[in-house]
Amino acid sequence: MADQTARRADWVSIPEALQRILASLEPVGTELVSLPTLSGRILAESVVSPIDHPPWDNSAMDGYALRAANIQGAGPDLPATLRVVDDIPAGAFPSRPIGPGEAARIMTGAPVPVGADSVVRVEHTRIRPGDPGPSPGGKERAGVVGASVDILSYSDSLRNIRLRGEDLRTGEVALAVGRPLRPGEVGLLAMVGRREARVRRRPRIAILSTGDELVGPDDFAEVLAGRKIVDSNSPMLAAALLSAGCEAIPLGIAADSASSLRTHIEAALDADALITTAGASVGEFDLVKDVLGAMGYEPDFWRVRMRPGSPFSFGRLGRLPVFGVAGNPVSVLVTFEVLIRPALRRLLGRSEVHSPTVQVVAAERIPGASGMTHFARVRLEPGADGAWEAHLTGPQGSGILSSMGAADALLVVPDGVMAIEPGSAATALPLLAGDPARATPGFAAEI
Ligand code: AMP
Ligand code: MG
Repeated sequence: MADQTARRADWVSIPEALQRILASLEPVGTELVSLPTLSGRILAESVVSPIDHPPWDNSAMDGYALRAANIQGAGPDLPATLRVVDDIPAGAFPSRPIGPGEAARIMTGAPVPVGADSVVRVEHTRIRPGDPGPSPGGKERAGVVGASVDILSYSDSLRNIRLRGEDLRTGEVALAVGRPLRPGEVGLLAMVGRREARVRRRPRIAILSTGDELVGPDDFAEVLAGRKIVDSNSPMLAAALLSAGCEAIPLGIAADSASSLRTHIEAALDADALITTAGASVGEFDLVKDVLGAMGYEPDFWRVRMRPGSPFSFGRLGRLPVFGVAGNPVSVLVTFEVLIRPALRRLLGRSEVHSPTVQVVAAERIPGASGMTHFARVRLEPGADGAWEAHLTGPQGSGILSSMGAADALLVVPDGVMAIEPGSAATALPLLAGDPARATPGFAAEI
C-alpha cells in the first residue's frame, strides 16, 4: 500500500531540486579517445603544454624581414632600398642574421632572423627590375638573394612578428579538466602533440516509457485504428541524450502493471541513471513508486515548482539515480533541459553544469503560472534593435508537442510574475540541440 508520507509532494524550487540532484551525482569513469572522434566529449585530465607555441618568433606575413630603422619615412616616391641577403620559406631557417641595410625574404610562419624587428608585407615592396628575382611563377626562390628590394611604405615598422610562446607556453595548462571538447579544443590538443585524450566515457542512461495506452512504431496500425498512441518520449529522450553526449538505452514500454514495470526496471540496473516517463502524477504515481519501493528505492524529492513538468521525482534505486518524469512529451523535454541536462553534465564531469541563458525581449504577452516558474516555448527572431525577440510558438498546453518542435528556447516566467508584457526583457534557455527551428536572415545577411 502507498505510504502517505512518502507520497506527499515536496514542491521544491528549481534551484533546490538542482542542488539536491547535483549533490548526489559523481562523474562516470574515463577512457582514452583519439583526436578525430573527440568532439563533444568532456576532458577528464588537465592538458599541460610541453612546448612553446609558436616555437619561434615568426612572420605573420609574406614579405621582407628587416630593421625598422632602415625604412623610416619610406614611401612609393621615396623607397628605402635594401639588399636581400636571405630567403626563408616556411619550413626553413634563416642562414644568417640581418644587418643594417639588409633584408630577408620571408614567408608566413617562417622564423624571423636575428637582427630583424619588422616584416614588411610583400605588397609594400618591389624587387628591383633587372636584379635577379623570383621567376614569373614565383615558386623559385634561389634567385632572390643578391637582389635589391625597394620598400614602399614604413607602415609595417615593428609589426608582423608573432612572438615565440604568445599562444601557449611550456608548462601552461592548455585545457583544464572538465572542459567540453569542440573543434577548437581538438586543434589545441593536436598542437601540443596529443593523439588522444582522457575523457569521460559516455554515461549510459536507461529510458523507460510507461503506460497501457502506448505502442512502439511497429504497432502503428493500432494508432491508425484509434486504439493507442505512439510512444514519442523514448525516441525523443534518446535524441536529447545523444545531444548531451550520453548513450541512450531504451528499455521499451512498460504496461501499467507491477510485474511489467519491475521487469523493465530490472533491465536498467547496470546503467548510470534511469529516466522513467509517465505514471508520475498523483493518479498513477503509486504504481511506479510501489514497484520502485519494493525494489529498495529511496526517494529524494517529488514535485518541483515548475510548469510544465511539475510531477518530477528524483531518488535512488541502490546506486542507480532515477529521474521520474511526467508523461507529456513537452514536460519531458522541458524537465530534461531544466533538471536533467545539468545532471548529465555532472555525470560527464563537466566543470560548468548550468545551461547558458540569453536575454530576450517578449514580442507578445507571455503569461506565468501561479506559484511556479513557467517555461514558455518561444521562437527567437532578431529584433529591430539587435535584441532577440521571443514569439510564442503556439498553444502552450503540456500535451502540445508541435509548439515544442518549433521552439528555439524556453522563455522563463519566474515564480510570482503574472506575465511578461510585450516589450519587456526576459531570460530564455536556448534549446541546445542544433540549429534554430526557423531560418533567420543569417550571419552573412546581418553583417
Ligand atoms: P501520465 O504522466 O501518465 O499522466 O501521462 C500524461 C500524458 O502523457 C498522457 O496523455 C499520456 O498518454 C501521455 N504520455 C505518457 N507517456 C507518453 C509517451 N511515452 N509518449 C507520448 N505520450 C505519452
Ligand atoms: Mg499514464
